Amino acid sequence: MRYKAVICPNCGAIQATGAMGCSKCHTCNKSWNHYRKGKSVGVLREFDNPLAASDFVKAWKKQRAMEQGISIRKGANYVNVKA
Ligand SMILES: [Zn+2]
Repeated sequence: MRYKAVICPNCGAIQATGAMGCSKCHTCNKSWNHYRKGKSVGVLREFDNPLAASDFVKAWKKQRAMEQGISIRKGANYVNVKA
């Protein structure tokens, strides 16, 4: 059994899944096929165990949260500079 870190092509939410073939997004509830015409859709990486997949997802979310935090702070600085 292979586990995957997948990213929803509809809303961009990332999740770990052990599902074969298709996933249902936990965030927007839309399901999609992982492979279409021989190309992967929204499959970031495959793993041998579910822990590695969920660790990858956690790290990804942390990274995204940090980037968003930085951009929010930048925005705040910009406002301060203008004021
Ligand atoms: Zn989604």
